[in-house]
Amino acid sequence: MKDSHGRVIDYMRISLTDRCNYRCIYCMPADGVTSLCHSDILSLEEIERVVRVAATMGIKRFRLTGGEPLLRKGIEFLIEELSKLKTWNGKPLDVAVTTNGAALSAKAKSLAAAGLKRLTVSLDAMDPQIYKDLNDVNFPIEKTLAGIQAAKDAGIPSIKINVVVKRGVNEKELIKIAEHFKGTGIIVRYIEFMDVGTSNGWRLDDVVPSRQIVEEINRVYPIEPLNPNYTGEVATRWGYKDGSGELGFISSVSEPFCKECSRIRLSVDGKLYKCLFATEGFDIRQMLRGGASDEEIEQAIGRIWTTRDEHYSEIRTEETVKARAGKRIEMSYIGG
Ligand code: SAM
Ligand code: SF4
Ligand code: SF4
Repeated sequence: MKDSHGRVIDYMRISLTDRCNYRCIYCMPADGVTSLCHSDILSLEEIERVVRVAATMGIKRFRLTGGEPLLRKGIEFLIEELSKLKTWNGKPLDVAVTTNGAALSAKAKSLAAAGLKRLTVSLDAMDPQIYKDLNDVNFPIEKTLAGIQAAKDAGIPSIKINVVVKRGVNEKELIKIAEHFKGTGIIVRYIEFMDVGTSNGWRLDDVVPSRQIVEEINRVYPIEPLNPNYTGEVATRWGYKDGSGELGFISSVSEPFCKECSRIRLSVDGKLYKCLFATEGFDIRQMLRGGASDEEIEQAIGRIWTTRDEHYSEIRTEETVKARAGKRIEMSYIGG
């Protein structure tokens, strides 16, 4: 199924909760978000139904995110259920989780037992104080690192690290993070700071372009470009020349990848969004709770996708950022 720019839908990001135990300075307001009440958020069974229908339409990759997805009670049950589903051509779904890692030590075993194969942990600094300053709740890095180790020990096969880079905040940490995970099989991915949410005071000057980070790392640890794993992969892949692993760069600001963007997003209260920067979503919850059939839900998703024209990162300027000031949606709600 193609949108109006010929982009094929194959990926859904699902926000399991708008709550978070961190207040990362680039993501969430210090006083948090006004949490939705329980009856407003999709139940795990409703999410499973949307995924089941989406899988028949060619969506094969699903990422559970948030907010902090490990705070959602029953996430293991959902992973187990999704792991039983198949794509339209009979293959298992690719189900991944993105977490801040705070609860990983406690949850790694149960996540692995539920069938989780792919995990991303956000970690923006190695320096304990910078890590605390970034999460803004004084959470110690030692616990997150122990969580990553627990995920490895539990046998989760693919683990990645997400690093959001903000100028003047964690630039000096980037090599240290690469160094820490080099040779471990864990892939570090550097993400350019984006203008999401209402509170991060985004300015273009705060964005460190990926090519600058590539150059810096290359000076210390020589790296070379690698081919993408698949069409539409958002991270540009680089490998250490000594064969000790790979790195990824997600350059949403300096090199937008809208032309290949194949993702749809399901918000915590069941709205489908065509773009991370969309200001309005389509209410699928109403259909789920109003007796709609699977065919009707499929048709609705089809209509949303085939009319999709979004390509915000290609047209972003300081002016578009200002113009959207009052309308921006929080990352935790839409599922970053
Ligand atoms: N709480 C989980 C976590 O932090 O990994 C999952 C949700 S979080 C919104 C998903 C991803 O978005 C994280 O890797 C986070 O670092 C990233 N993120 C949040 N705010 C961002 C921003 N302003 N620019 C770029 N990435 C951002
Ligand atoms: Fe929470 Fe993740 Fe946002 Fe940090 S990036 S505040 S951990 S949702
Ligand atoms: Fe996709 Fe929207 Fe991001 Fe472009 S700006 S890559 S369309 S989510």
